[in-house]
Amino acid sequence: MNGKRYPEQLKDLPTPFYLYDMDLLRATLERATREAERYGYRVHYALKANFHPRILTEMKRYGLGADCVSGNEVRAAIEAGISPQDIVFAGVAKSDDEIRYALEQDIFSFNCESLEELEVIDALAERAGRKARIALRLNPDVDPMTHKYISTGKADNKFGIPYGEAEEAIRQTARLRRLEIVGLHFHVGSQIRDFSVFEALSRKVNRLQKWFDGLGVRLSHINVGGGLGIDYDDPVSEPIPDFEGYFRTFHRNLELRPGQTLHFELGRSLVAQCGELLTRVLFTKTTAGGKRIALVDAGMTDLIRPALYQARHRIENLTANDTEKRMCYTVAGPVCESSDVFAHDLELPETRRGDLLTILSAGAYGRSMSSNYNLREMTREIFSDEF
Ligand SMILES: *Cc1c(COP(=O)(O)O)cnc(C)c1O
Repeated sequence: MNGKRYPEQLKDLPTPFYLYDMDLLRATLERATREAERYGYRVHYALKANFHPRILTEMKRYGLGADCVSGNEVRAAIEAGISPQDIVFAGVAKSDDEIRYALEQDIFSFNCESLEELEVIDALAERAGRKARIALRLNPDVDPMTHKYISTGKADNKFGIPYGEAEEAIRQTARLRRLEIVGLHFHVGSQIRDFSVFEALSRKVNRLQKWFDGLGVRLSHINVGGGLGIDYDDPVSEPIPDFEGYFRTFHRNLELRPGQTLHFELGRSLVAQCGELLTRVLFTKTTAGGKRIALVDAGMTDLIRPALYQARHRIENLTANDTEKRMCYTVAGPVCESSDVFAHDLELPETRRGDLLTILSAGAYGRSMSSNYNLREMTREIFSDEF
């Protein structure tokens, strides 16, 4: 709840729990959809960032489509009322069951990631007596210059069809009678704050499009994926990402053909800042080396980003007095893993057992990546408009 007062009763709730600021979520969706509509762009929400039904309902209310990476995500999007005609299904290894289900639902497009997958979707479509619209997910070999675990568009990544196999993919698709190629799909990575990455992607797309023109292949849509980053260091001064600059970058650099639509798959940038993880300090202690540790009741099972890819989240002590002298802490969770640490050398007002901390910018890839490891409870989720 960036810059807002917390309702008094929050302080007595059992921790840990996620808290979502629904006003901020709506303001973010308002801004994103307004900026996209300026150019007639279509935005699909990447469900994997956060698939709580209440969040999905808001996405539907703002007219967003869905970007799914599993059959269950396709189902969740449909259950939230999102039309199959607005659903794209990506994923590097889709199971036969998942493909069959998506075929039955007649989704907008399968984003295909290998030549073998094209054959399999064609065969399953044949058996189901259906046709599948597909977009080829090409690996554009663009380095998003973020962490290696969240970059997906470099040449040796597992994602996408290698650039050099594009021609063969086209020929194969033309031969497979149950497939209709309707688009190209790209997604180079996540948490991208440097817009020059999107410029580079746009230029690659332009080059590919010219080449497709030469082959006489007409594509009704181009999908440039997601990846717009957010400000984890200072969520208070940038609660809503720069959607205006983001869409403008594509508008200025990517050349669409007449009638062609440009699609996006945004996850993090739509939901990260509206969520935070509240946790209580259980113990404090000092290591032999003199490091002060605050042990909290949330762990990597609730929010794995710091343990998984050294992500940093801003952490604040909500109960300590601001006048307390500030000290350096390692903030660590209860899980039996050394990587279960939220922050090293973090300056906080003197922190004691019972203090309530908040870990900010946790609305994306927070609860959706949580687990039962150590037989811990799945983290509760609370919405600001429930008070
Ligand atoms: C994860 C993912 C996205 C969303 O990425 P964000 O960084 O959250 O915007 C979009 N498209 C695909 C194919 C993805 O796998």
